[in-house]
Amino acid sequence: MKKIVVIGGGFAGFWGAAGAIRRAIELGKENEVEVTVVSRDSFLNIRPRFYESDLSKVRIPFERILKPIGVKSVEGNVEGIDLDNKTVNISSSSDTFKLTYDKLVLAAGSSLQIPNIPGLKEHAFSVDTFQEASKLHQHLDNLVSKRSSEGCYTAVVVGAGFTGLEVATEMASMLKHVAEKNGDDPSAVRILLVDHSDIAPEFSEESRAVIKEALSDMGIESFTKVSVKSISDNGVVLSNGEKLPALTTIWTAGVKASPLTSLFPVERDNFGRLPVDEFLRVIGTDDVYAAGDCVRVLTDETNVAMMSCQHAQPQGRFVGYNLVSDLFEKDTLPYKQPSYVTCLDLGDWGALLTEGWDRKVLTKGQDAKEVKINVNTKFLAPPLDDKEEILKEAEPRYIATLDDHLPYRFREDTK
Ligand SMILES: Cc1cc2nc3c(=O)[nH]c(=O)nc-3n(C[C@H](O)[C@H](O)[C@H](O)COP(=O)(O)OP(=O)(O)OC[C@H]3O[C@@H](n4cnc5c(N)ncnc54)[C@H](O)[C@@H]3O)c2cc1C
Repeated sequence: MKKIVVIGGGFAGFWGAAGAIRRAIELGKENEVEVTVVSRDSFLNIRPRFYESDLSKVRIPFERILKPIGVKSVEGNVEGIDLDNKTVNISSSSDTFKLTYDKLVLAAGSSLQIPNIPGLKEHAFSVDTFQEASKLHQHLDNLVSKRSSEGCYTAVVVGAGFTGLEVATEMASMLKHVAEKNGDDPSAVRILLVDHSDIAPEFSEESRAVIKEALSDMGIESFTKVSVKSISDNGVVLSNGEKLPALTTIWTAGVKASPLTSLFPVERDNFGRLPVDEFLRVIGTDDVYAAGDCVRVLTDETNVAMMSCQHAQPQGRFVGYNLVSDLFEKDTLPYKQPSYVTCLDLGDWGALLTEGWDRKVLTKGQDAKEVKINVNTKFLAPPLDDKEEILKEAEPRYIATLDDHLPYRFREDTK
């Protein structure tokens, strides 16, 4: 029996496991491989939905997606990898143990960076994990006891990139609901967006103009080219000395790949991502593949994959395909993903759908919002309880073709 261990049960890890099972079946080797996913919990966490006001549908139990395809899951934290002896060291709440592998997939994702700013760790919220997002919701529910405090209905969102924009625009309506529920005037709500650079620095000028229009229409105030000096439970002090009274501060600035990437004797990029070859095998290793936020890889001749689900999902499928092909000396497939779209939620204002690496605006407002709802509720979640459907979607080339047509399918959906 060949053992495949997948570290991480996110988008890359889940699809890596499913891709491996699919390829094993294709080669008539399903009884010769055992696939185990090791992850910190027993859910596929849909991280891109953690900014939403309803957290009830943002995680999928492994029971419904791994079990139907015969993948084992182990709950625990991977503490180390012994590349020479091909073992993974795991600690769980009750135990420490090892798993051996023939092929390993590193799909441990990324996490929000918390720089050493006074008060940040103690007082800021985030939407990086389900637990953090739930803590923020709990805090909003508790604001009723602080109704008379200055800044009760003010939220400072730090970071005006993709996540910060989605959080800020969603917070506008979330805080209004909280104020209404507490019997207060929703017009008291203030959302302040802070960034040491500009609004949406990674977007094109054309798309940035749409984002600024949305922020202005929603009354969201921007503080750019200024950084955060300190955070307390009643507000933020900026580097220019300005004080922003706010009971809610949400940090969204900067993610870094899993520290497990440091275990490999190879130079990582600024985000801590590992270099891989075109088949997504970690450079300098024979038996370790990696996918998702942990890897730096080109999607075509020039563009580097983003730390995004859009890239993590197909990369996982390619990894599953390639490592099983590799185990049985069959042809591998080079990873390619030329098309690129982004759909940015802008709260009640709508959304922004862009196409291509130059982020050309395809549609905006409520039309784009329909697309975003489809992305979040349909495209991110794998089929549930259905082996055939899951494995159908685990084919890397099928997804590549689907991906090529996504913008057009979106247009259909918005009609
Ligand atoms: C608020 C927010 C909004 C986003 N919006 C979008 C969007 O609109 N579109 C988009 O494409 N992307 C978006 N992203 C990015 C996207 O969520 C990530 O790129 C994607 O989740 C990466 O998938 P992954 O499988 O590589 O890693 P992850 O989803 O981070 O999964 C990693 C898994 O590994 C596990 N793990 C980590 N370390 C260990 C360890 N030591 N031991 C055991 N298990 C471990 C974790 O528990 C987790 O299950 C967003 C992210 C956030 C936070």
